[in-house]
Amino acid sequence: MKDKALLRGQILGHLKLYSDLGVRYVGSSAAGKRSSAQKSQKRELAIPPEPKAAAPHPAPRIRVNTSMFDEAPSGEESLGAILGDLNDCRRCKLAPGRTNLVFGSGNPHAELMFVGEAPGADEDAQGLPFVGRAGHLLTRIIEAIGMRRDEVYICNILKCRPPGNRNPELDEIASCEQFLFRQIAAIKPKVICALGAFGAQTLLKTTETIGRLRGHLMDYRGAKFMATFHPAYLLRNPNEKRKVWEDMQIIRDYLLSLRNSDKS
Ligand code: SF4
Repeated sequence: MKDKALLRGQILGHLKLYSDLGVRYVGSSAAGKRSSAQKSQKRELAIPPEPKAAAPHPAPRIRVNTSMFDEAPSGEESLGAILGDLNDCRRCKLAPGRTNLVFGSGNPHAELMFVGEAPGADEDAQGLPFVGRAGHLLTRIIEAIGMRRDEVYICNILKCRPPGNRNPELDEIASCEQFLFRQIAAIKPKVICALGAFGAQTLLKTTETIGRLRGHLMDYRGAKFMATFHPAYLLRNPNEKRKVWEDMQIIRDYLLSLRNSDKS
């Protein structure tokens, strides 16, 4: 009985998210009666399978803990070594204003890596990336493609919070981006997903709008790159959730195709 109630709650939670993301079809006995155009649209909006693990997903507990990053093939840099190099970093003018340096959290061997712009107030207070409302929405987006938050890796371009959440400045990016690039080299993700226009433009060294950058995979540092809207932007503009859902489906399908080709 308890299990049924838990399952029912989980299903309702997923349906709410799919609805938020603009998904209109969640399977129906009437599907066979739809026109071919509707069927095609349904395929486009196919719902990912439920994640296998039915248990609740605990939030990652990493703050500044190097012990979990100690696996790296010889000759390659580990996340722990990068964090050790950052140490009490004073390389740019953001250092004096931070409460915590926000290095990143998640699976050090993740296939999928999310990169935001910089920590906000919640992240600065907790030393973890993407917490608070935007972080909660990111967790739901990850779960919508059948993954758990602790399966992916999440970090920012800047590791310290800009005052008043202003945009990062060029000298700050120049000082800090090397650490992100080293994180990418250590993790070797299959897909890097930049969250927000500023992060995508900074990584791609472009002034193209997020509207033109999103929606397709690009080659980037040995991985595929997807730009999409920042969860904080989605909280203010919920109508854009549908576009993020489309971007996430592209990522999910690409990762599935890699896994299938590994099996064959
Ligand atoms: S933002 Fe980066 S470079 Fe600047 S102090 Fe923080 S860790 Fe160092």
